Amino acid sequence: MGKKIIVAGAGHGGLGAAAILGSRGFDVTVIEQKQRDELGYDWYDCTLAENFDAVGAGRPDEDSLLPMKEIYYFSPAKTVLVKPYKRIFKKAVYIERKLIYDLLIENAEKNGVKIIYGVKILSAVCDDERVTGILTQNGEMKCDFVIDAAGMDSPVRRSLPEKFGILREIDDDDTLFTFRAFYRNNGAFSALPKYCAYFYHCGHRGFDWVINEGDYSDVLVGALGKLDEDDVEKTLEDFRSDHKYLTDEILRGGQYGKIPLRKTLSKLVCNSYAVIGDSASMIEPLSGSGITLSLNSAPMLADAVCEAENGGYCEKDLWQYQYDYFNKYIKMILHDDALKSLLTEIGEENLNKLFTKKILSAKDLYGGKMSIPEFIDKASGMISAPGLVPYFTKLAVRLKKIDVLYKTIPEKYDETAIAEWINKYDSF
Ligand SMILES: Cc1cc2nc3c(=O)[nH]c(=O)nc-3n(C[C@H](O)[C@H](O)[C@H](O)COP(=O)(O)OP(=O)(O)OC[C@H]3O[C@@H](n4cnc5c(N)ncnc54)[C@H](O)[C@@H]3O)c2cc1C
Repeated sequence: MGKKIIVAGAGHGGLGAAAILGSRGFDVTVIEQKQRDELGYDWYDCTLAENFDAVGAGRPDEDSLLPMKEIYYFSPAKTVLVKPYKRIFKKAVYIERKLIYDLLIENAEKNGVKIIYGVKILSAVCDDERVTGILTQNGEMKCDFVIDAAGMDSPVRRSLPEKFGILREIDDDDTLFTFRAFYRNNGAFSALPKYCAYFYHCGHRGFDWVINEGDYSDVLVGALGKLDEDDVEKTLEDFRSDHKYLTDEILRGGQYGKIPLRKTLSKLVCNSYAVIGDSASMIEPLSGSGITLSLNSAPMLADAVCEAENGGYCEKDLWQYQYDYFNKYIKMILHDDALKSLLTEIGEENLNKLFTKKILSAKDLYGGKMSIPEFIDKASGMISAPGLVPYFTKLAVRLKKIDVLYKTIPEKYDETAIAEWINKYDSF
């Protein structure tokens, strides 16, 4: 039997890496606190069908895919409505979250992975130098390597010794607290677009949507820092007054959740441990794509684990995983992180100006390249709103740093060079 690997939590990237490592002869066990039928939210999510190829899973049937929505964006004051940016919608689709889990679990089991449900992990188990296993409600489980796929509140990551250098706590201010439910529609007419998103809606710093699907509407309320029932109620009331078809009868979902909304952690590996998915904040801080990043990181992690086997899974050998991940995604992540910082720091009044003066378009939100007429439009908008200039100067400085960070990621493990790079990345 191959070396023993424990995957903490049945996160998407963890299940993907487990399947690949199982197929290469490792003895892989996933420990998950929920029961099998509780996995996955009761709604569909936006992702790419091709993501499943990365982990060797079968793709969902074409007829189970729903087309991506073209969403209109409201300014906070709801006086400006920005049209969708169509280019991004080419390949993205909606897939039921439960179906994503069916495919990933079937693939893992087919490759010999054992999944133990209903067992809560309490912490990592470590010696002075490395992670040696996990502590569960049933006792200690030792292994050669731990993959942490237990989501943003992972008890494994949070209990690692500080000296291992991996960020333990993700700030609430870097977290989008969410409520999502599908509500019955009553058939009333609305002149508003069918798919609407809102920034800084009803006084909360965040992002909401109402997606009218005919018989029902998909509603999301998302706020940075905190979200309580009162915020949700207030937001739903406002939605009902604008979108008269929206009733208060929940058909699906109705769950609170959390999304890390910050750049990926600056360190993903230490001796005998690697982190993946939401636990590593593998996300584009504006557009999400957590499932895409998690699944596409899985083969990078599996390859690095195979390479690191002979050396005893040292941080040095596992570095390749981190290098491959950042080499592929850092530009996208930091671009999003810079824009997210602008949108969350600028305040409601200034954000309204970005919309009214046509400085912010849906294309900007999705990283589209600016044409010359668009640039001229934005520049004249900026000149007429000088209060925005400091924010844009800060944004420009940050965007310029992306190239430097990208070009200086150490390809080979060098402790000093890595420490310097991590410092620069953390202070981005
Ligand atoms: C409202 C909402 C909408 C979203 N929409 C999208 C979307 O459209 N597209 C997209 O790509 N992403 C979306 N996401 C984000 C997406 O859910 C995550 O990025 C993605 O699931 C990757 O996270 P993960 O699999 O690493 O972690 P998780 O999905 O959090 O999975 C972690 C697993 O670990 C288990 N676990 C946690 N703690 C323990 C413990 N102590 N012991 C044992 N097991 C444990 C959990 O039960 C869970 O099964 C959305 C999230 C929310 C909340």
